Parts: sequence; C-alpha cells; structure tokens
Amino acid sequence: MEPRDLSMHSVYRAGRGIEEVARDLGLDPDELIKLSSNENSLGPSPKAVEAIRDVAEAVHYYPKSSHTDLIAKLAETWDVSDEQIWLANGGDGALDYLSRALLEPGQAVLVPDPDFTYHGMSAKYHHGTVETFELSEADGFHQSPERVLEAYDGHRIVYLTSPHNPTGSEVTIAEVERIAEATDEQTLVVVDEAYEPFSERESKIGLVRERDDVALLHSFSKAYGLAGIRLGYAIVPEEWGDAYARVNTPFAASEIACRAGLAALDDEAFLEETIETARWGRAYIREHLDAETWESGGNFVLAKVGNAEAVADACQREGVIVRDCTSFGLPEHIRITTGTREETPRAVETINEVLADVRG
Ligand SMILES: *Cc1c(COP(=O)(O)O)cnc(C)c1O
Repeated sequence: MEPRDLSMHSVYRAGRGIEEVARDLGLDPDELIKLSSNENSLGPSPKAVEAIRDVAEAVHYYPKSSHTDLIAKLAETWDVSDEQIWLANGGDGALDYLSRALLEPGQAVLVPDPDFTYHGMSAKYHHGTVETFELSEADGFHQSPERVLEAYDGHRIVYLTSPHNPTGSEVTIAEVERIAEATDEQTLVVVDEAYEPFSERESKIGLVRERDDVALLHSFSKAYGLAGIRLGYAIVPEEWGDAYARVNTPFAASEIACRAGLAALDDEAFLEETIETARWGRAYIREHLDAETWESGGNFVLAKVGNAEAVADACQREGVIVRDCTSFGLPEHIRITTGTREETPRAVETINEVLADVRG
C-alpha cells in the first residue's frame, strides 16, 4: 500500500542543529555559534525552566487547568476574550487551525515570496492552493498594499509577516488596514507577529479588536526562548472565535508547554534582556558586516553575500552556523540570527573573514 499522492507537498527545511553540524565537522558543539534558526541566544526563560522542572511529577494528567489558565492570561494581556486565543502546538499548529477553520478544498491563500514556508504548506495540507505576491529587493522587500492588492484575487487568506522572515521588513497598522478594507468580506488577513516583541512598532492587535477579518499569529519560540516546547497561538476576531472548539486537536498544547508559557509570561526581566540584546545585535551586524544588509525589526539580519551556499558552508567550517536563504528563493542572501553580546562580534568577524576569502 501507499500514502496518497504527496508530490505537491514540500519538506520543511529547518536551520541545521548544533549537534548535527558538530558531528559532521568533528567539532565540539560548545565551539559552535548557532545563528541559523532565530532562536533565543540567551537560552530559555529561567522562570520557564523552573516551571518545567516543577511540573514533571504531574504529567500523568491531561493539561486541563493549565490550558485554560494560559488562554485566560493571554486574553488578559491582549485585552481580548478567551475565545479569541487559539492556543496550539507552536505557531505552526495555530496556522493549521486557521487553515482548518477557513479553507474549503481548492480555496487559495496569498503569501509573500520569499516567505516563512509553513504558511503555504499548511494551506496545502488542508487541500487549499497557494499563490504569491513578489517582494522586491529594490524597495527593501516591503509588503506594500499595492503589491498585495495587485496579486489579490478573492483569496480566502492573505498572509503578511511583520517583522518579515527572512528579510526583517515591517508593515504599518495603516497598511494592514488598507489591505483588509480592499479585500472581500470573506478574506482573512493574517499578520504573523512571531517576531513582534523585537520590533519598535506597535502590534496590529487593535485591528483584531475592531474588525472581523484580521487575525495575528504569535509564538513562544523566539522572544521567550521556548522553541523546543512547541507553543504558539493565533488571536482571532471575536465574531468567530468559538470555531476553535470545532477545529482544535484535543489538548492543543501540553502540560509542560502551558506551565512553561505561564511562567515565561511572568518573566519580564528575561523578555526585556532578550529584546535589548537582539536590538543591539542587529544594529551591530548592520554596522560591522562587510556586506549589504537590510533594516530588520526581528532578532536577525538579512545580508547579501553573493553565493550564499558557499558562504554559509565556509562560515560553518569556521564554527558559525548561519542560514543560507536559497530555500527561500534568495540564493545570494544569508540570514544571521543575533547572538549574545560575546557571540555576535565573533560571528561578524568570522563572516567578514570568509567574505574577504571568497571575494579574493
Ligand atoms: C518561527 C516562526 C513561526 C512560529 O514558529 P513556532 O516555533 O511554530 O511557534 C511563525 N512564523 C514565522 C515567520 C516564524 O519565523
């Protein structure tokens, strides 16, 4: 027997793991600086670590109250109702819930190109189709309403990401509002705010409170340092928030994830240090890297280096793992996650040496 025809589905290509690279190169993992997956360079929130240890003895229970408590806490934080918080196994899981709740077979979603690939992948898993609007290097990869609306043709979901992965570009509240106004009544505009905590701009949450056609995506993987836990959520309009009960996988987030998330939300000192370090790091990279870079609202910087695969490979041999953006459709660009205050200058120095070598 065989599974159904999966040839139209692609394999998610994550940045390479530190053990994997260390093994390949015969290096000690401690000598490597991993700046390829936009993870938190400071590690996890210490309060979350403590909560994870404490919950170990209680994991034979289903996560009932912790799930409810985390939803309530997030609803309070964002000043929305509990039904509007769609908790999930990572932001990726929340994308699946949006697909399940919105897409009829054959309906299309519109995503930027380049883009975080799971927006489109999730739509395809749910029997939808994917179309793109092109971002242009010349205008800083801006997701402008003109570009979006030129490509728009009654799509069921329009995805924007702000700050955008992998380019770092951002959109304003007014721009999102213009897109939501100009698209059909049955089109949902989703703003992926996985990197919103790092931005100096305001969240688009006001539009979710005011309208029935704008939703946000948030994640604990980046700013809270909990990528390994898999915890994220969508914030959806009040009018149809109750659809969650019909589409979610039972106990959408684990007891460990919910307890860690609750603790991380209380760890303001950690969040503040994370944001400060990332903002410092992205400014440092832009100032000192010997390559063209783009302004970024996230914990990473896009740089144009020529042959991205060759540069990323050479950096890796020197112990610095960066993301070759070829799989994003940017074969001349790498994406560098901000590291700690020690790692970032060391990484920039290494990348600069590699660039000098490559350029001869
Ligand atoms: C990391 C990321 C997410 C969510 O990741 P999870 O680990 O599944 O929470 C969503 N969107 C973008 C653009 C990302 O980079």
